[in-house]
Amino acid sequence: MYKSSLILIFVRNQKLQNLSHYRLGLEFAKELDQKDSLSHHRDSFHIPKDKNGNEVIYLCGNSLGLQPKTTKEYIEQELEDWANLGVEGHTEGRKPWLHYHEFLTQNMANIVGAKPIEVIVMNTLTANLHFMMVSFYKPTKKRYKILIEGDAFPSDKFAVESQLRHHGFDDKEGLVLWNSRKGEELARYDDLEAILEAQGDEIALVMIGGVNYYTGQYFDLKRIAKLGHKHGCMVGFDCAHGAGNVELNLHDSGADFAVWCTYKYMNSGPGSLSGCFVHERHSNNKELNRFTGWWSHNKETRFNMRDEFDQLEGAEGWQLSNPPILSMAAIRASTDLFSEVGIKELVKKSKLLTGYFEFLINKLNNNDIKIITPSNPEERGCQLSIQVKNADKVLHNKLTEAGVISDWREPDVIRCAPTPFYNSFEDVYRMVEKLKAILN
Ligand SMILES: *Cc1c(COP(=O)(O)O)cnc(C)c1O
Repeated sequence: MYKSSLILIFVRNQKLQNLSHYRLGLEFAKELDQKDSLSHHRDSFHIPKDKNGNEVIYLCGNSLGLQPKTTKEYIEQELEDWANLGVEGHTEGRKPWLHYHEFLTQNMANIVGAKPIEVIVMNTLTANLHFMMVSFYKPTKKRYKILIEGDAFPSDKFAVESQLRHHGFDDKEGLVLWNSRKGEELARYDDLEAILEAQGDEIALVMIGGVNYYTGQYFDLKRIAKLGHKHGCMVGFDCAHGAGNVELNLHDSGADFAVWCTYKYMNSGPGSLSGCFVHERHSNNKELNRFTGWWSHNKETRFNMRDEFDQLEGAEGWQLSNPPILSMAAIRASTDLFSEVGIKELVKKSKLLTGYFEFLINKLNNNDIKIITPSNPEERGCQLSIQVKNADKVLHNKLTEAGVISDWREPDVIRCAPTPFYNSFEDVYRMVEKLKAILN
């Protein structure tokens, strides 16, 4: 496996030389920061500090994004309205709670590339995945399997397995894995095509992590949706690692549904609510199964408290409950920041920042580490997954001691995500300097 990495590094460097504006040295990192028109946004976030009061190098926005400094105000506003208005806050608050989720919709739709009618913030991620499967996993005797990627996030795997069991199917037999080939890390579309050719008419649902949490591979959503649909499958994506990180263009992808969380790249706080996308073509489809509650009911007549159910159109129609406003306030703070900058600008910087990170790591020329994330910037977001030889976790622990916050994922990967919102080129430079010192 590690022999082939030499060839990989060679190919990568050639590519970078073509692009390559990158140079070694701290001066160059500083120059990039100076030229970066988004660099001042770092000040919009609280950067955690180490014991000595120095800012850590935070490369963990793929796990828990940092707190915007404005979040507190947004939450305090709702606490004040609750204190001053009590129940009246639902209609008389500065941002009336009855409509609160609507204040998030447009910005969220822009971030994930969807129409407002296709987007709703509600529940938590795995819960939404289940609710989407209630509607979009409708197995029959002949077509009941679910296809996921081989190294899917465990929660997603557990969720689809339990759906199989819930419908009376065997969760081993009914689960189809899109694995990478032996000795490779990344999944290949050829293999997906082959699986669908062979078993497509037995697969009810294709459910893929839009950006794989482990390798950082950003899949071609449109291609996968097209392929799945060609074989008569429903297609959904878990975009937990995509939202706020890459341009998802969910509407254009043609996917039936997508879900994501807001506590990773969306910087909305631990355990924060999830986003959910349902393609416009399902907006008024009353034939779909769904679990409903009073919040799925027509807004105009919701409070008439009548017996008769009247389905609300669009993604909103999948809501069950009146939502937690305090968590939504944090999401509003964050999505307001996103709307100031725009996902396009963030992605532009992100490509430069991660490209620089990759350049520096490759320049280390060290055979104990290998980047397994795709080298093509179109096939990844900001995360680089660094595979460590002999699964030596000591390297990660030493990085942590040196003030670099990244994460270790079993069996052998350190994930580092320089996020364009608050990470600087100097962060990346200093991280690689520390890595170099530890490796030597
Ligand atoms: C982060 C993440 C989760 C976590 O799910 P929760 O329901 O928010 O705890 C699930 N799936 C994927 C792909 C993730 O990246």
